Amino acid sequence: MKINRENLTRKNISFQSQKNSTISNLINKDRMVDHFIKIARIDTGSNPELVGIKSPTTKGQIDLAQALSTELKELGLENVEIDAYGILTATLPSNIDESPTVAFISHLDTSPDVKTSNVNPIIHNYTSGNIKLNDNQTITEEELEEYKGHQIITSEGTTLLGADDKAGISEIIEALRVFCENPQLKRPTIKIAFTPDEECGGGIEYFNIKKFNADVAYTVDGTTPETIDTETFNAFNPTIIIKGVPTHCGYGYKKMLNSIDIASELIGMLPKDESPSTTKDKEGYYHVDSISGNVEETKINMLVRDFDYDKAKERVKFIRTKIDELKKKYPEANFEMEANEAYKNIKNYMSLNPKVIDNAKKGIQKSGLEVKENSVRGGTDGSFLTINGLLCPNIGAGGLNFHTQKEFISAESMKKCCENIINIAQSWVE
Ligand SMILES: [Zn+2]
Repeated sequence: MKINRENLTRKNISFQSQKNSTISNLINKDRMVDHFIKIARIDTGSNPELVGIKSPTTKGQIDLAQALSTELKELGLENVEIDAYGILTATLPSNIDESPTVAFISHLDTSPDVKTSNVNPIIHNYTSGNIKLNDNQTITEEELEEYKGHQIITSEGTTLLGADDKAGISEIIEALRVFCENPQLKRPTIKIAFTPDEECGGGIEYFNIKKFNADVAYTVDGTTPETIDTETFNAFNPTIIIKGVPTHCGYGYKKMLNSIDIASELIGMLPKDESPSTTKDKEGYYHVDSISGNVEETKINMLVRDFDYDKAKERVKFIRTKIDELKKKYPEANFEMEANEAYKNIKNYMSLNPKVIDNAKKGIQKSGLEVKENSVRGGTDGSFLTINGLLCPNIGAGGLNFHTQKEFISAESMKKCCENIINIAQSWVE
């Protein structure tokens, strides 16, 4: 992730200006960091091959859920429960007469893109320069520009760290501790949920929104503390099956219709400047995710993404138009396409209750930060919840370089994210 120097300087100032904040003084940073390091050591890498077959997909996630469940019970939370799918939920009741129910959600699993076992977190008291983890992995001074004087937590460079999203879990738990230790702080009813298999698109589909019964929710699964993800892609995952006409290769003259060739032709018709590698920021794309087949039949799995719903639908229509052209060219071939809508941009739903974003912004500002609204070039667990009736934007958990051996998080950022959680919860009872 490229860091904008101008913003960083501004952020440094706001970090320091918060030293006297009361909430900030109530947060026990060392306790939170110790907690994070403890849970980072548990291997909770999820397994994409078992999504839809088993939830959670790996045993480590249950081990973590059970450890957290014990901790939450000791803390005095109510209705601490791990359901049949490995989703851990709990409630901290409000201490005022009437209050909304505000939820904070993180995921138990870590990305299987990088080794997730034998994670050994290291704390670096960072002053300047690069942090060399090993001969292959170095976090550069540029990436660390913002973090001079911070405690930087990394792995040894051979595994994932897992701040995505265990930092979110530790920040939520520290926030709960602060509320429990300080009953003078007004709070709404706070619900928490730790869900499995986010990294491979599982888990959340089993979430019982009705039973959870929260008014609003925030996933704590974003990047830096000042960011709030208020927008996601609209997503279609089209599948295309092309059937050709197979013959003996030696006698295929003017007879054989190779479905692989037709599939290649279709892929060649997609605009090259609208792919994941040629688009950024608010631009949408077409992506061929996988292709498999033989002369007789070829299957293409695609991803179509756009922040604008109509444009996403237009992209799907564009693929259909190209298929129609190929149908005319190869009347003996057979084409099937399914659009497979996957998720929608959460932005349009947020207008149903503008307080969800407003109160998040208020909370982040109260932590002394300048809010940065961000558009996620993907979906979040919050997309699923939002579309199904529980409005759920995503707030920062503090980590950077997600899904790599160079993943890192600053302890000071974690503290800010925890402060945000407390301030956002409180902004619902002010
Ligand atoms: Zn995550």
